[in-house]
Amino acid sequence: MFAEVLTIGDELLTGNTVDSNSAFIAKKLTEKGYWVRRKTTVGDDVEEIKTVIQEILSRKPEVLVISGGLGPTHDDVTMLAVAKALGRELILCEECLERIKNFYRELYEKGLIDDPQLNEARKKMAYLPKGAQPLENTEGAAPGAYIEHGGVKIFVLPGMPREMKAMLEKEVLPRLGERKFLQRKLLAEITDESKLAPILNETLKRFNVKIHSSPKGFGKYIGLIIFGESEEEIEGAKAFMESRGIRFEEGW
Ligand code: ATP
Ligand code: MG
Repeated sequence: MFAEVLTIGDELLTGNTVDSNSAFIAKKLTEKGYWVRRKTTVGDDVEEIKTVIQEILSRKPEVLVISGGLGPTHDDVTMLAVAKALGRELILCEECLERIKNFYRELYEKGLIDDPQLNEARKKMAYLPKGAQPLENTEGAAPGAYIEHGGVKIFVLPGMPREMKAMLEKEVLPRLGERKFLQRKLLAEITDESKLAPILNETLKRFNVKIHSSPKGFGKYIGLIIFGESEEEIEGAKAFMESRGIRFEEGW
């Protein structure tokens, strides 16, 4: 099972905003048992976004999570680009419009904005690609979208980290089933990675796990993360490495 992540926004390319969303999404997908094979970032440009989505779809991931560019301003063009990439129209989602109306009315009643009316910019957020299911945004105005297209589950989420996280937890992860991937962080007492390499290779052949190793500087420890589908598999891999003379400490 493999997945891809696409983050959108000029501010990510200029370095003004650190793309923490893709790391968060990748971590959650990994925990669900997906291998995230690529993360891509593009600016707020319809053609660029459309092209990159089509490239991603041609690789046929099971899941594609997109984040950013759903807001009311002129540079928020993600839904339009998704619709173009899929060859679908943008259609008004009545239920979304109702929610957006209520959202701004509530902000007005709290005294946070001075105009509760729907204007074009606000209304724009209620348009989703044809056939999309709206995803509820409990933290903001713009709804997300869930679209199944050619066997790929596509999720379109907002860019504001608070909104993205809530939508991922409440609307995306429950749609990805129960399967869990476990991970265990270990410190291997060994002086450098080259000594570990042959043992890791042998472990990977025998056990259905993935192992990431990251040196903690030359010296005593190397950090390992073992990913697997069950505790038994992870424990087995650990025990095997111990039998080859590696000593571990838990966590790092
Ligand atoms: P909004 O309704 O706020 O416009 P949006 O879906 O259009 O939502 P963006 O315009 O892409 O979202 O981004 C909103 C805010 O979230 C910006 O401050 C931006 O820097 C931040 N942001 C966007 N993408 C990311 C990301 N990948 N990682 C971290 N922060 C992000
Ligand atoms: Mg925006």
